[in-house]
Amino acid sequence: MPNQSTSFPPEIKSQLQLLISANHILHYHGLVDAFGHISIRHPLNPNHYIIASYNPGAPALVSSFAHFIEYRVSDSSPLDQDAPRGYSERYIHSEIFKRFPRVMCVVHSHSEAVIPFMTAGVQIRPVFHMAGFLGKDGPPTFDVTRTYQDLESRKISHSPDMLIKTEHLGAKLAETFDVQDRAFGDVSVEREVEARPVVLQHKHGFTCVGDSIQNAVYRAIYLQKNCALLKNALDLQSVKRASAADISFLTEEEAKGCAKMNEMTADKAFRLWLREVEVNPLYRNEEGVPKDLPVGGMKD
Ligand SMILES: [Zn+2]
Repeated sequence: MPNQSTSFPPEIKSQLQLLISANHILHYHGLVDAFGHISIRHPLNPNHYIIASYNPGAPALVSSFAHFIEYRVSDSSPLDQDAPRGYSERYIHSEIFKRFPRVMCVVHSHSEAVIPFMTAGVQIRPVFHMAGFLGKDGPPTFDVTRTYQDLESRKISHSPDMLIKTEHLGAKLAETFDVQDRAFGDVSVEREVEARPVVLQHKHGFTCVGDSIQNAVYRAIYLQKNCALLKNALDLQSVKRASAADISFLTEEEAKGCAKMNEMTADKAFRLWLREVEVNPLYRNEEGVPKDLPVGGMKD
């Protein structure tokens, strides 16, 4: 049953409408199936976050505000004691919101285009201008299995199912988003979201963040597109019998320049993605889709 007791203030209506559509967009682009999720920090209360409940069954089937649950960032407990069942992996979201105050949106995906790179031990790096946000060296990988021995020695019960189902594991994943810039020391809190917005999860998928729904969704979609292009390039290299070291990745300067552009153009892409799911009968947004979203784009 939908979570009928949830009521959200009217000031956040447009963000929740977008969150419904963002669930659909991630499905439309193959980032989520029955699994995977997207959350937002509560726009009026930074100590809370909002994510779909387990009940709709899949992100594609989220259709109303009643499908959302509001949780405390502190421990991922629901505000409503009678809230329906939530995602067991919601600690991914709460621990990232806890560690990074400027993160407003978190996406978690089991993308089939991304996972093989970890399986094969091939580092993902940006190969085109739309993926500058990955940084020259590409995103780090979090391997949850490395925590299992520690949990066993501390006699903490766990299941080796690769899921992030506790605050402890969520915090370990969130730590992997930390940035240390060798040239300039620690990156400031203001820049950390942009500096390392993606963490890959070995044998599982990835999680990415943004300061808006648009930026987080953009990064998820273009990480996946980058992986498809990189895979194609590696295939072509193998035809040439050349080394993978010959792949032409973005340089550090190019990646930084493109990352800035990526942030400024995410709203343009998002308007198209909204329309794609709006006209597809699989997806229902009973709350309405915000019209005429501003498209700032690049400033000359
Ligand atoms: Zn997962």
